[in-house]
Amino acid sequence: MNFQASGISLPQTSLFIDGEWRPGAGVYPLFNPADGAQIADIANCDATHALAALDAAARAQPGWARLAPRARADLMHAGHRLMRERGAQFVHTMTLESGKPLTEARAEFNLSADFLLWFAEQTAHIHGSFSNASHGGFRVVTTHQPVGPCLLITPWNFPLLMIVRKAGAALAAGCTTVTKSAQETPLTCALFVQTLIDAGFPKGVANLLHTTTPSAVSETLLKDRRLRKVSFTGSTRVGSLLLRLGADNIVNTSLELGGDGPFIVLADADVDLAVDHAIMCKFRNAGQACVAANRIIVDREVEPDFTDKFVKKVSELKVGDGMDPVDVGPMISARQRDRLFDTINQLTSAGGKVLTGGRALQRPGYFFEPTVVRFDGPNPVMCDNELFAPIATVFPVEGPRQALEFANTSNYGLASYVFTRDLTQAIAMGEQLEFGMVGINRGIMAEPAAPFGGTKWSGIGREAGHDGIYEFLETKYMALTVG
Ligand code: NAD
Repeated sequence: MNFQASGISLPQTSLFIDGEWRPGAGVYPLFNPADGAQIADIANCDATHALAALDAAARAQPGWARLAPRARADLMHAGHRLMRERGAQFVHTMTLESGKPLTEARAEFNLSADFLLWFAEQTAHIHGSFSNASHGGFRVVTTHQPVGPCLLITPWNFPLLMIVRKAGAALAAGCTTVTKSAQETPLTCALFVQTLIDAGFPKGVANLLHTTTPSAVSETLLKDRRLRKVSFTGSTRVGSLLLRLGADNIVNTSLELGGDGPFIVLADADVDLAVDHAIMCKFRNAGQACVAANRIIVDREVEPDFTDKFVKKVSELKVGDGMDPVDVGPMISARQRDRLFDTINQLTSAGGKVLTGGRALQRPGYFFEPTVVRFDGPNPVMCDNELFAPIATVFPVEGPRQALEFANTSNYGLASYVFTRDLTQAIAMGEQLEFGMVGINRGIMAEPAAPFGGTKWSGIGREAGHDGIYEFLETKYMALTVG
């Protein structure tokens, strides 16, 4: 489908700095992953643009922090209303540049709008406390203040949800922002920033950079003492690099990194429900999600039934251009698709058997067949191995103890899942899973009021929920002598 033919216009392709759209140091081409065709030339920033964006954010910070919470909330509500009015443009932009099917883009849009609304509602509910010191004699007063100008670095896999989840919390907390979009999905971020500006957000509060050399932004800004916070979603490798870059300046850092999501199906589970949720959890966004079901761990008693039904449904998934009615779109890039040839070799060399899929599609665009690889039992090849692809691996296990042990054999700790009809078992297992999130009889967990995040290699801090806003606040304590 031709974007222009749909009657929907392309968002801004420039950088947004200090209240105006500005050109970059040059441009880079943006491609549609569904057919490889060029969509637009995007402004490419360098270190001077990054500094200009931080200058603007630092100048705007005191005024934005001082603004009454109700006034900030009103602006965010206006942003939310405008966002809703522009729903069709958001959905089409996301599908165009990220490849995800329109139905998924629509779901992401609705969820993102709900996140912005939730953050708007929280703006006037940031509370402090007043209590007595433990031995009496003085009072303990706490209050919360915005941490300061923030750098938000977003990935391409959920181009709208990621900027809303970060910027929504930062703005609600009273912080100004410099967002660096993912190179592959700049337009969705541009449309969101444009929406905030049209809603009346003051100059300098929301700035936006695009670049093919992200290190120019991070190396410049993380060394600048005015930057007080970085919030990043992406790979563990880059997360670790950002921690090192911010170390000298002790930059407050939140990291939402990768995962190797164990998806446990116990012997008493509703197998049909588990199959449906495994499909959603694994093949949504062509498997390019940090919370995707990476290792499907099934009690041997029900594994043949589960695998038969799962493979049948996976082989029926319709793959194609996200603008058409399909279940699975393309991978984000040729690079992401091409690495899967090695992945399949790695899995089969380790004893995995391909039950369906396993190949790239012979057509323009970066498509890979929805794939299921079965192992005979737990296998270390998939521990610490984030597939980020439409490839599911299935491992039969001998009961809940082995399921738990295999699930916890991981340096990651983001999302995990348990399917069982026994709630006591589910809670016991949920408590022992070394993961930041546990879905019990459900494969999708994102929700504005819930703290999203992981342990170990999966990151530091939480996004959304009350915790998500406090990531952008400092706690101040005042000792008050009374009488
Ligand atoms: P990445 O970590 O390289 O990119 C994520 C974001 O970080 C992008 O905006 C990118 O421009 C930026 N970035 C990269 N290097 C940077 C630097 N030196 N300084 C500042 N920003 C920098 O991830 P990718 O290459 O796009 O994808 C590779 C892998 O990362 C995936 O296969 C997956 O494992 C993981 N990933 C995870 C998530 C997630 O949701 N947690 C999202 C995207 C990618």
